[in-house]
Amino acid sequence: MNPSLLRLLRPLAVPAAILLTAAIAAGTSPSLPHSFSGLSVVGPYVVLLLGAVISAWFNRSRAFIMLASLLAAYAAWGLASDLAAKTFALRAVFTSLAILVPLNVLLALSFPERGVRQHRNYRWLLLGLAEILLVFWVANAGRSALSGIAWHDVLNHWLLRSPPTPVAGRLLFVLALVAAVVRTWPRSAGKELRKEPRPLDIGIAGALVAFFTACEWAQTTGAFGAFMSAAGVILLVAVLQESHRLAFRDELTGLPSRRALEERLPGLGPTYAIAMADVDHFKKFNDTHGHATGDQVLKLVGARLAEVGGGGTAYRYGGEEFCVLFAERRLEEVLPHLEQLRQEIERYEMAVRGADRPRDIKTGTQRRAGHAGHPENALSVTVSIGVAESDATLMKPTLVIRSADEALYRAKRAGRNRVMR
Ligand code: GH3
Ligand code: MG
Ligand code: MG
Repeated sequence: MNPSLLRLLRPLAVPAAILLTAAIAAGTSPSLPHSFSGLSVVGPYVVLLLGAVISAWFNRSRAFIMLASLLAAYAAWGLASDLAAKTFALRAVFTSLAILVPLNVLLALSFPERGVRQHRNYRWLLLGLAEILLVFWVANAGRSALSGIAWHDVLNHWLLRSPPTPVAGRLLFVLALVAAVVRTWPRSAGKELRKEPRPLDIGIAGALVAFFTACEWAQTTGAFGAFMSAAGVILLVAVLQESHRLAFRDELTGLPSRRALEERLPGLGPTYAIAMADVDHFKKFNDTHGHATGDQVLKLVGARLAEVGGGGTAYRYGGEEFCVLFAERRLEEVLPHLEQLRQEIERYEMAVRGADRPRDIKTGTQRRAGHAGHPENALSVTVSIGVAESDATLMKPTLVIRSADEALYRAKRAGRNRVMR
């Protein structure tokens, strides 16, 4: 299979597996022993509540808004089915939740992620309260003089008629899903900067699919609860994946971080080689071109390092220093790959967006025309690399790293832009 397609599909594996499990659970639930039925009622509450608490704790507002909406929807649906099965109230609750949940997700996606403890977050609270009151009012239509019976006609409108999911709910679902998928699409600024989609964006898309399936199958016993749980589990897993990523990925380069390297070191076998790479004269580079341009160059250098051959894994060690770990490789095997890496970086002309880049297209074109033949801001840097391997005297990874650091220092003193052992 095409590796880039595989990379695109890999993040979908978790939500897909959860959805499949929910489908199996929904399919087998009527034949389960009676003692399991309590689980299928309480299960979604536990999952959705746990998810909401954890996303609030981890300060993920989008996940929290979606989980809180799902929890309220599930609770309302459970209450209405207990109190008013097959009456107008149940239909009103179902129509409302099928519309309000995707509406809330769409709203949450249209604002930037500001965390749960965001400025003026009481607006979300007010919105939630207003929605609960509205559903209560609609569901009680016809019961008292206050609520009247106008809602009966409203809910018979073709846009709102249910079951199954009302047309308005389907439309909102499609809009929210499009918004979620657009956010997951790998954004590329230049060829090298393919950012991996964030687990949480994928989780929101997956949970929307689970919620929509729950609504469409709401008539089947057990299916609504199973797919509401699936939505909760997908979001919960996504919040955890996102936190793991924050801890072990370097935000600027997308490479695994120093912490990830340190977790990896104790698990190494007896044979491995470690290279330390440091960008040459980077302080001067920053002074000349600015820190923002320096950051972009680090991203591009990181992208080259990520593709190092010979079974190496690149980590951002700190600042403009990188570490490449070759598990189960001898030094002699990895040297040619490091030399190739060094040459690639040396030859690589980086088309960097200048800080003074003109905002409007017209002046930009004029400026570029002035530099005929020379791409605007084609910059390049070099790296020095020191490498060491484990042996009878260097048995600990920290010692091998220190030895690689010493080799790097020798490479710097010998004139930079070279690989030394
Ligand atoms: P050399 O390694 O060749 O001896 O010279 P150098 O100028 O690279 O020396 P040194 O390693 O001491 O300097 C590191 C500089 O890298 C300091 C800092 O300005 C820059 N730097 C470190 N981290 C970052 C970063 O994340 N972004 C940018 N733009 N610059 C960084
Ligand atoms: Mg340095
Ligand atoms: Mg340096």
